This record gives sequence, structure tokens and C-alpha cells, in this order.
Amino acid sequence: MKPKFVADEMLIKLARWMRIFGYDVSEVKGDEKLLKEAEKGRILLTRDRELFKKARLRGLSVYFVNSDQIDEQLYEVFYHFKLKPEEPERCTICNGELEEKGGRWICKLCGKEYWIGSHWKGIEKRRKYLEKRL
Ligand SMILES: [Zn+2]
Repeated sequence: MKPKFVADEMLIKLARWMRIFGYDVSEVKGDEKLLKEAEKGRILLTRDRELFKKARLRGLSVYFVNSDQIDEQLYEVFYHFKLKPEEPERCTICNGELEEKGGRWICKLCGKEYWIGSHWKGIEKRRKYLEKRL
């Protein structure tokens, strides 16, 4: 089973990229909601030291993200949790599950469609860069 995560508001970009690379990362706002998601078994990703301490005190799985640069954030989280970039399974917008239909992926929750387009090169570039460093 792949680990599931919940990211704080400062890590929206990281959450989106982790979804592109195949991980379930939800986003909620507010410390209590974030802690509640962690209590349900998600690993909390945060840049907030106070929240990090609170989660530790409650015995929750939490990781403090050191960098504020997206490539570094991806690297430290993937390295720390021994993850590998995989194929997308989650909607980058809402974290809904994706369903493949005739070469496209459709989000079961919000209906957004994905296909291999010009943005794909950027994704593959970042994927290769990350894989090379891990
Ligand atoms: Zn969606």
C-alpha cells in the first residue's frame, strides 16, 4: 500500500506534483482539520513548526518540509519516504481518483480531463530529474 498524505496550505504546489507522480495527497485548511486527517492515517506534510510540534505531541506521522523550492521539496519527501515517481492516479486539482477512458484520464470527482499534451514534456523533465537524484 502506498502511503497517503495530507499537506498544509504552504505546500499546495508540492501536493499537486505528488499527485502527478501517483500519490494521494489531500489538502485541508486549518491546523485542527490537518491533524484530524493525520489521525485518520495520513502522513502530515507541513512547513509550520508549531503544527509539526502539535502533531508530534499527539503521536501522529508528520514530516517537516525544509525547502521552499519545489524540486527540493519533491526530492526530500520522496527520499525520506523512499517513494518513486509513478503514473498519475489522482486529479491534480481535487485529488479525486482518475479513470482511464480511451487514452484520456477523467477525474471521478470533478470531471477534469487529462491527456498527454504539451505540458507532458515538463512533467517528464521533472520526473527524470527527480529519479536521477533518488
Ligand atoms: Zn478532480
